[in-house]
Amino acid sequence: MSGPTIQWVLASNNAHKVEEIGRILAPQGISLRPLREFPDVEDPPETGTTFEANALQKARFVFQATGLPCIADDSGLEVDALDGAPGVHSKRYTPQATAEANNAKLLGALDGVSARGARFVCALAVVTSAGEEAWRGSCEGAIAQAPAGQNGFGYDPLFLPDEFPGKTMAQLAPSDKDRIGHRGHALKGLPAVLDRLKA
Ligand code: IMP
Repeated sequence: MSGPTIQWVLASNNAHKVEEIGRILAPQGISLRPLREFPDVEDPPETGTTFEANALQKARFVFQATGLPCIADDSGLEVDALDGAPGVHSKRYTPQATAEANNAKLLGALDGVSARGARFVCALAVVTSAGEEAWRGSCEGAIAQAPAGQNGFGYDPLFLPDEFPGKTMAQLAPSDKDRIGHRGHALKGLPAVLDRLKA
């Protein structure tokens, strides 16, 4: 697409997210800048009780601070037997906030529990001068009895996605995770949101 490039900000510095979301925005003539390119902007707050509320809170904060359209995400794991925990606290489920500690705590919390249904959730929020929208994508599955696999990050070694029976997310090729994963599903909603905000 030719013509002037529109600058957007991603309320994150995660290189993988900048790449993935940037690929979808590029055909619209939008170039995506990570938050680190705005050193005067503080880290956005994240105090909501839902993934959508957190994504919107981050996107509004960065939009107000930079004056540029912003996209933000918030993601995590919901476990049915734990009433949706760790949920919005997925990153800091333990004081150490490491994948090893978080996964060990999760396995302990599900010790002896046979109903192990769970889902990964990713909420995205867009805030521009034309309006704002938040939505989610999810990936259904269950929590394994023990970790397996080397790929991915976080809770991937414990998450058995319904679409690949017997395999954890950490045993999938990255392209398969992108295709069936919560982030991929949420990103599929982005072009329609851009159209609505343009209209
Ligand atoms: P954030 O929204 O990227 O900060 O993710 C919050 C936390 O949710 C991460 O630190 C992970 O513990 C968990 N999480 C989010 N997405 C994934 C994923 O794709 N695989 C495994 N864990 C994830």
